[in-house]
Order: sequence, then structure tokens, then C-alpha cells
Amino acid sequence: MSKVLVIGGGAAGMMAAIAAADKGAEVVLIESNEKLGKKIYITGKGRCNFTNASDLEDVFDAVVSNKKFLYSSFYTFDNNAVMDFFEKEGMPYKIERGNRAFPVSDHSSDVIKTLQNAMKNRGVKVLLHTEVKEILVIDYTEDETKYISRVKGVITSQGDTIECDYVIMANGGNSYQTTGSDGRGYTLANKLGLKVTDVRPALVPLVTKEDYIPFLQGLSLKNVSVEIYKGKKKLYDDFGEMLFTHFGISGPIILSASSYVSKHLPGELQAYIDLKPALTRDQIDKRLLREFDENPNKQLKTIMPHILPNKMVQVFCDVAGVDDMLVAHDITREQREKIISTMKAFPMTIVDTRGFKEAIVTQGGISVKEVNPSTMECKTIKGLYLAGEVLDLDAVTGGFNLQIAWSTGYLAGTSIDNK
Ligand SMILES: Cc1cc2nc3c(=O)[nH]c(=O)nc-3n(C[C@H](O)[C@H](O)[C@H](O)COP(=O)(O)OP(=O)(O)OC[C@H]3O[C@@H](n4cnc5c(N)ncnc54)[C@H](O)[C@@H]3O)c2cc1C
Repeated sequence: MSKVLVIGGGAAGMMAAIAAADKGAEVVLIESNEKLGKKIYITGKGRCNFTNASDLEDVFDAVVSNKKFLYSSFYTFDNNAVMDFFEKEGMPYKIERGNRAFPVSDHSSDVIKTLQNAMKNRGVKVLLHTEVKEILVIDYTEDETKYISRVKGVITSQGDTIECDYVIMANGGNSYQTTGSDGRGYTLANKLGLKVTDVRPALVPLVTKEDYIPFLQGLSLKNVSVEIYKGKKKLYDDFGEMLFTHFGISGPIILSASSYVSKHLPGELQAYIDLKPALTRDQIDKRLLREFDENPNKQLKTIMPHILPNKMVQVFCDVAGVDDMLVAHDITREQREKIISTMKAFPMTIVDTRGFKEAIVTQGGISVKEVNPSTMECKTIKGLYLAGEVLDLDAVTGGFNLQIAWSTGYLAGTSIDNK
């Protein structure tokens, strides 16, 4: 019977352990935390959006980095397989807006419990409070011309050497470090000579430069569209919901945008919000004229809340360069044009992200070029498998990042050659 060591008790590691145990291997999972699934616990605001029930094509489209690498793993263990797995293991689920899958209980702890039970039922041994400090590799030769590297075991924080036939690295990324994913996987990979690409925060709020933004703190805008430019080059556009904060901007479309623009930060990127994407300039002008005709003696500051959120009016007029004390019948065509332009392109300068502390995922990681996508085995070290966020893989929000963890973990676990 082969012996498999899994490093990391997160989503990818636990799924890999279950899949390897199903192949009949003896499996030991090593986790440095005092408990399993610390990151799963905080996912989906404590409800765990564990996958997404969209068509697989759409799941692929949600992947930001190295989509093609995921073909085998997604086809081997797709989103439907994940939902079936959890249901069969005793966790009913429900589908919400945007095809997001959650446990019926709304408790992420049920996802963790289900995985723990599945491991227990398959005889997986779990070592908590134990960190893998080193992965041991031996070089051997079959014909004295070609040397082959192969894993032999690991050294733990207790100083123990544990021998094994296979190691599955599922150390996670570098975000929300208190959950245990703090870049240790990259250190282990570097020691083995594996390439680690630049890592950066993704699905992260963005910091803006203008001092008018903090005045909008707490304001959430629905049905707006955002465009982000570097110079003249458009980097991103999207439609949906966003939020102003004391440091800048956040909310669903901004988090998604961050995954595409973070590589240009810190720096200066121009962002424009179309506050009325459903209306043309002409339609907005007609609406303004109607408002002004109906309220000829009212000040702009009392008319604009008919069109924009109240909280935004003063900042909006300042940015547009139109005095909000003006009365409607004094407003010129030129001033109306300024209002329309600001409504179609409310400007901001993005200067940075909020960093790994607030990033939902890490972009970058161990290069996928080091890994065979059909098995998740390292190309240069036999018996070493990699899975989850430790790899240079990330997706937008919606349950897709956990899908990456389940699919790659499952493929790694199931690819071991149990003898
Ligand atoms: C706030 C937040 C909300 C999120 N919400 C969602 C969501 O709703 N849906 C979604 O799809 N994704 C969500 N994500 C992303 C998702 O949680 C991650 O992509 C996913 O959990 C990654 O799984 P993983 O197993 O690769 O890594 P992790 O879950 O990070 O697990 C890695 C584990 O390895 C352990 N470890 C590391 N090095 C060692 C070592 N040397 N020895 C022993 N143990 C080690 C760590 O302690 C850790 O427990 C969210 C992330 C955050 C931060």
C-alpha cells in the first residue's frame, strides 16, 4: 500500500486526502493549525459559497489565471461532481443568485464537518499543530545517464522525518495569513528549485487618491458600470454593484476588477463610473431639463437627489464643477453638459490595493509550468503533487476559487499510483 502525505488541511488538501484514500492508499494529512479548514470557515461571509452551478463553460470563464491548465481537473471533477460529493456525504445544498452553491444550513462549518467525516470514514490520519518544514527528495538513476528526482518524505516542525511514497502540497496562497496560508508553500517550492511567479493580492478592495472619495464612505451603488484605464488602454469594464469606503472602493465589481488590474499597482489607474449606464447623454439631458422645468426656483442641491443618491450630491456637484447652490432656471447648457459628463464618467484614480490582509485570493504562485495538468504531478520531481491556491491559479468570486481547490485536489489524490 502506498503512503501519501498531504500538506495542508484546507479545501484542496482535504479533498486530495479523500481522493487518495479512495484509491486505497494510506493517507496522513499534516496541518500546522490547531484545526482543519480555518479558511473555509470564513468563506462566503461564514456561509461558504462552495461552488457554482453554472455551465462548465461559464466556470472556465470565471478563471482569471491559467484557465487552460484546469481543463483536465475541471473535467475530472467538475462543479456537479462537487455538489454530488457533498450531498452524498450528507450535506444538502442550495443554489442562490448567480448560481452560487451554499450548504442549506448556511454554515461553512458544515462543509468542514463533511470533509472531516469523509476523511475519518476513509481512515485518513490527521496530524494537527504540525508544520512541514522540508520536503525530502532523492535523486536516483536507472541507467547512470539520467538522474531522476523523487520525493522520499518530509521533516516536520517536531523534527520528525516521515517517509512516504507521495507528497501532495496544498499549502494555500498568501492572503488572510491568520488562517495559515502565509506563503510557506512558496518557501518549500523554492527549496525544491520550483519556479514561483510574482504573487499579488487579488479580489481585494482598491485604494483611491482623491480626497472626495472618503466623503462617500458607506454609499453602495447598484446597476452602475465601471471602466478602468492605464493611460489610454482599457484594462477592465464591468456592470453591477460597488461600494465607497474610507480608503477607496470595494464591492462585487471592484473586487473582480482588482484581479485584472492588481498587476499594475501600486501606480496610477484612471477609473470612471457610469452612474446611469442605461441612459444616453441625450436621455439624461431630457431628464435634467424636465426636472429643471418642474422646479425652476429650486437649487441644484435639492433637485439632484431626484436623480442621484442624496449622499453623493455635494461631492458630485464639486467634481462636475457646478455650484450646487445654483437655481434651476440659471443653469446653462454648458453646466448641464458638465453634469451629464460627470454622470457618465465619475472619475477616480486608483493607486493601490489593500494588500494581502484583505485579499480573498492570491494571484500568482508556484508556476503551472512545473506541473502536469493531467495528473497534478510535478514535472521534475516524481511523487510530488500540487493542488489549490498554492499554484498560480485564481478566479473571480462566485464559488470558483473553491472549485479550483476541489478539482485540483481531487485530481492530485486520484492520480497517485497505489501499489
Ligand atoms: C474572506 C475569504 C472569503 C472567501 N470566500 C470564498 C467563497 O465563498 N467561495 C470560494 O470559492 N472561495 C472563497 N475564498 C477563497 C477560498 O477560500 C480559497 O481559494 C481556498 O480556500 C484555497 O484552498 P487551499 O486548500 O488551496 O488553501 P487554504 O485553504 O489556504 O489551505 C492551506 C492550508 O495549508 C496549511 N499549511 C500551509 N503550509 C503548511 C505547512 N508547511 N505545514 C502544514 N500546514 C501548512 C495552512 O495552515 C492552511 O490550513 C475566500 C477567501 C477568503 C480569504
